[in-house]
Amino acid sequence: MSRFWSAVTHKLTPYVPGEQPRHKRLIKLNTNESPVEPSPRVLEAIAATSGDMLRRYPDPESVALRESLARRFGLAPSQVFVGNGSDEVLAHAFLGLLQHPKPILFPDITYSFYPVWAGLYGIEFERVPLDEDFRVDVADYQRPNGGIILPNPNAPTGVLLSLAEIRQLLEANRDSVVVVDEAYIDFGGESAAALIPEFDNLLVVHTLSKSRALAGLRVGYALGQDELIEGLSRVKNCFNSYPLDVVAQRAAVASIEDEAWFQAGCQAVVDNREWLQQALAGLGFRCLPSAANFVFASHPERNAADLFQALREQGIVVRYFDKPRINQYLRISIGSREDCEALIEALQALLA
Ligand SMILES: *Cc1c(COP(=O)(O)O)cnc(C)c1O
Repeated sequence: MSRFWSAVTHKLTPYVPGEQPRHKRLIKLNTNESPVEPSPRVLEAIAATSGDMLRRYPDPESVALRESLARRFGLAPSQVFVGNGSDEVLAHAFLGLLQHPKPILFPDITYSFYPVWAGLYGIEFERVPLDEDFRVDVADYQRPNGGIILPNPNAPTGVLLSLAEIRQLLEANRDSVVVVDEAYIDFGGESAAALIPEFDNLLVVHTLSKSRALAGLRVGYALGQDELIEGLSRVKNCFNSYPLDVVAQRAAVASIEDEAWFQAGCQAVVDNREWLQQALAGLGFRCLPSAANFVFASHPERNAADLFQALREQGIVVRYFDKPRINQYLRISIGSREDCEALIEALQALLA
């Protein structure tokens, strides 16, 4: 508290990300980073960035990157918006597209940044409960609303909605924007980007942080029809003209252009996920069906908070949410095969 803070600042409840340990050598399975290296072409593009390029301001509209993304998704560059991580893109969507008189809707268990942005921009919201299997029932979203936002697959559950269900959601909400946050779609889902030509109320948000192993670069993007993208651009140009630096723009293009590396990386994560789910099941854990680069697991006889602590003491960090309905679950990012094996060994010892 400070007398120098504005009234808004006094009322804020900031988001708290998973920890980034600075010193200890930890096995880090808590923030869904990729266990795979980014494409070597990304590193080449970064190394080839000259002093002269750095001397200048970057392209404020990130045209080369937007063109590359537009080609990949069969859209026009005017249907692509890029930002400093998808968190920034989502924040702009809250202010630019979701701030209306009626409350917005999102699941009761979901990305915990959504209520934070709603608080920042004074947007009312209603939490729509997942069913007992932690699934979104799209029929629950047929009520008056100022917009809808949900991750697909959902976080931190990993549970996926089909494209047919997303279509139902869009058809039932023609007068509000539906933001589908596809941070994890590349690990087993079908992107709603294919529905953009049909639905003017659809905004699809992606990140390079998870499936392209570039969390440190801070690049995210949104896909949608021109009007929605223009709304985001208006907000962006009132906030920061240059959200992506020249290094990020060049490296992101290199990543998008290396489709083979991207596909192989996603496959490696999916293979490790299948291995880890089987191994966890062998130890008596129950995992929700995951289409993401993490699993959400619970042990019927062990307290999740205790397991979290015990793992931490052995240098293995996973994510634990002390929240209603999910306080007996651990969210475990899919690491390298060695990291997954180390986790299973540690759990074996703890459960013995
Ligand atoms: C990781 C994540 C993001 C943010 O990704 P950045 O691009 O790194 O900001 C957004 N939404 C969900 C659901 C996520 O899990």
